[in-house]
Amino acid sequence: VDHLSRLERSKLMRKIRSQATKPEAAVEREARRIKRNFKMNSKRLAGKPDLAFFRLRRAVFVHGCFWHQHRNCKRSNIPKSNQAYWGPKLARNVQRDREVRKRLKAAGWQVLVIWECKCNRSNYIHKTLNKFLSAPKWSGRESCL
Ligand SMILES: [Zn+2]
Repeated sequence: VDHLSRLERSKLMRKIRSQATKPEAAVEREARRIKRNFKMNSKRLAGKPDLAFFRLRRAVFVHGCFWHQHRNCKRSNIPKSNQAYWGPKLARNVQRDREVRKRLKAAGWQVLVIWECKCNRSNYIHKTLNKFLSAPKWSGRESCL
């Protein structure tokens, strides 16, 4: 049960949104260590991926677990009392993410999603990015989990 009013909840969500730059910063830092050229939030690509490695045609999204509804993740729980409000809103996000991934893949890009809840482990980010950038073909298993 959500013990916050709708107003308090939306304030909290705004706060969460503004903190969302933190996981992105962690991923950016690890990407710089790998020393491959990338662009951030490129408007030339569908969905403006957080990182785009043009030469490798690989794009990375850093997703907040709540906004992008990380499956089987505690952080993605929708407050029960406001389900009517959040349900459709978040379902649209998920749908949009799916379409963006499809469009990128159709254009020959490989796509990786790194979830916020894993971003406190720089080792995980480093390893995953390395794997993603060096595999001839990304299995995509981690791309939408
Ligand atoms: Zn998560």
